[in-house]
Amino acid sequence: MMKPLLLRARGERNSRSLTTYLRFGGYGAVKKALIMDARDVIKEIKASGLRGRSGAGVPTGLKWGCVPKASGKPKYLICNADESEPGTFKDREIIRVDPHLLLEGMIIAAYAIDAHKAYIYIRGEFFHEAQMLEHAIGEAYRKKYLGKNILRTGFDLDIYVHRGAGAQICSEETALIESIEGRRGQPRLKPPFPAMAGLFGCPTIVNNVETLACLPHILENGADWFASIGTQESTGTKLFSVSGHVESPGVYEVPLGTTFREIIEDHCGGIPNGRELKAFIPGGSSAPVLTAAEIDTPACFDAVAKAGSTLGSGGLIVMDETVDMVWVLENLLEFYAHESCGQCTPCREGSAWALNILRRIRCNQGCPEDLETLCRIADFACRGMTICPLGDAFCEPIRSFLDRFGGEFRAAVTSGNPPRVVKAPILPTRRDQSMFAKPGTESC
Ligand code: SF4
Repeated sequence: MMKPLLLRARGERNSRSLTTYLRFGGYGAVKKALIMDARDVIKEIKASGLRGRSGAGVPTGLKWGCVPKASGKPKYLICNADESEPGTFKDREIIRVDPHLLLEGMIIAAYAIDAHKAYIYIRGEFFHEAQMLEHAIGEAYRKKYLGKNILRTGFDLDIYVHRGAGAQICSEETALIESIEGRRGQPRLKPPFPAMAGLFGCPTIVNNVETLACLPHILENGADWFASIGTQESTGTKLFSVSGHVESPGVYEVPLGTTFREIIEDHCGGIPNGRELKAFIPGGSSAPVLTAAEIDTPACFDAVAKAGSTLGSGGLIVMDETVDMVWVLENLLEFYAHESCGQCTPCREGSAWALNILRRIRCNQGCPEDLETLCRIADFACRGMTICPLGDAFCEPIRSFLDRFGGEFRAAVTSGNPPRVVKAPILPTRRDQSMFAKPGTESC
């Protein structure tokens, strides 16, 4: 098994302190980067093949290259630490274990895009993690790794921690920017993309915590070294937050390309109580579900896409043979219907509508036509019909659950089943209620 990179300090005493970080050779990459030409830093990151770790897998160097050089406006870097998708909890681990690794990555990224102000946007519920970051930032300022004239190189950088209020949609980059600007966290129409016009109308790069934490390792050890880990298209290691039916749930760091079987059986100890694997969601709740037959899929961007899902955030949710898939889909829809910001009708109404259908089906009050309606909702509400990817995020699970576990859904809508006794009544969701609210009065 390969030695961890991003979680190398896990288990160390005072792993979060600057002293421990310096003992690991910390801030060595910054010393190296700040005497390089910024264009060479970008070239190095491009050569490493690093792809964003938040979901879409966009090459990081390519993204940085989109920032206009001579716009005459200040540039901003934002670290997206608003990790709130069900099943995803890996960025939190980096902050808890090694916050200076993130700060060092931010200094490198800010230098590469010529930003002198950077924000860490962290979800409100991560109160202790926000405090850990504030503490680490204080240490870095005192040792001149932040502030004016960093390490006497003439480069200035200030980092601010901005806490969100707990809306999942603020993990979408434009919603996050709106939130920092003091407005309601709702996604913006793109284009313009943040790299052209982001925070305060200025060029802005938004990178995920894990992506930024890879940078010091790349600068320290070289692009070729990083590219030699993983597969040709998916380089480096990846954190997987594993939850559900495994012996040892938690955050695991493995080279990209490791199979899901190795993650589930070798790292997490397999399925408990001698049960069989039924399904797994490979990349957070919005990723299409895969079946046990696909357990040998390599966990890398291209192989997972070929299997019909996405690597997404690396939130691996494991389900054993006892799980009721109708209940799982209802549970997922519960989340998306609640988190829809309300701007787009297909997302706002579609997610609530699908949720109500699933609640009915689970109480044995569904009919075969309900499955067709679910398919129609899923077909309509995605494919560019909404402002942000949350439209797709609730549709993909519907499609994949019906596609792979259609038999369970058909059995649940077969007439003749007595209505199930359910604890929760079928009530209109918040979004159903908003359909009847006076225009402008619904909350988002
Ligand atoms: Fe809001 Fe949903 Fe539209 Fe995204 S897709 S902007 S979450 S309503």
